Amino acid sequence: MSLLVVGSVAFDGLETPFGKVDRTLGGAATYFSVAASFFTHVNLVGVVGDDFSKADEAIFRGRRIDISGLERATGKTFFWAGRYGLDPNDRVTLTTELNVFATFRPKLPAAFCDSKHIFLANIDPTLQHSVLQQMKKRPRLVGLDTMNYWIEGNPAELREILAKTDVLMINDAETRLLSNEHNLLRAARHIFKLGPRTLIIKRGEHGATMVDSKGVFCVPGFPLEEVHDPTGAGDSFAGGFMGYLAGARSLSDAVLRRAMVYGSVMGSFAVERFGLERVRHLKRREIDARARHFAKLTQFRL
Ligand code: AMP
Repeated sequence: MSLLVVGSVAFDGLETPFGKVDRTLGGAATYFSVAASFFTHVNLVGVVGDDFSKADEAIFRGRRIDISGLERATGKTFFWAGRYGLDPNDRVTLTTELNVFATFRPKLPAAFCDSKHIFLANIDPTLQHSVLQQMKKRPRLVGLDTMNYWIEGNPAELREILAKTDVLMINDAETRLLSNEHNLLRAARHIFKLGPRTLIIKRGEHGATMVDSKGVFCVPGFPLEEVHDPTGAGDSFAGGFMGYLAGARSLSDAVLRRAMVYGSVMGSFAVERFGLERVRHLKRREIDARARHFAKLTQFRL
């Protein structure tokens, strides 16, 4: 079943203890759609500038990604630069140049307006809302990411969109900020009152926790010997999670748990190399092998 994503397509400058790249293709919607395309067909909505070449576009070619919703605007593509320390959760943003993203107003091609699943990546809640308003029917599942900038900067609009969200995927600091609660379970209960039925707390190398009315499910971070670049881990997680759900018949607890594992698998591949290098060359059998590895990793007898 179809999966729509709206979010950034960007050039990133990345600096980690393992190397540096000045300009590589990135953006939340890029990581998301490449990861999700291993599981389902993806409709991408975003904007790029006139510096976005055919060679850049190649990342989407040969995959189940429809880029007819990728608008070409006059000007430069969104540019983001970040630096990480040895602790991959410790990220400093060096530059954010919005460029064509500053005036971006998402317009859905008619064929996208009945997508069954939507992921609203981290952008202004006003734009996230405008995407939902263009849908013909309420989708089967709405997933959403946001950040401290919007939680503090546009809380009224964020509340409106949260009321229409099924699965909220944020990190622990954002969970605390949004709920004003330090304890994450109490925070989850507060967040359920705002709309989402499911909260996924992304915890970087410590894994991810899902909380819903059925209880709590935790997936560890995959033990990796080499973590070169944490960029895009969260969006690749979201792509694996939503992609798996879009391809599944039901949204049962068992299916949601498997989606958590496939999300973690995609996040773990994303960090092994710089930018999209690892994920773009992945094979489906490697994904399934790592999912089995997760099962082994967490299996025990009582
Ligand atoms: P993640 O590491 O999963 O949180 O996402 C990293 C990606 O988010 C990078 O490829 C950036 O291009 C993109 N990004 C960074 N800041 C923003 C922003 N303010 N709005 C939208 N996308 C952003």
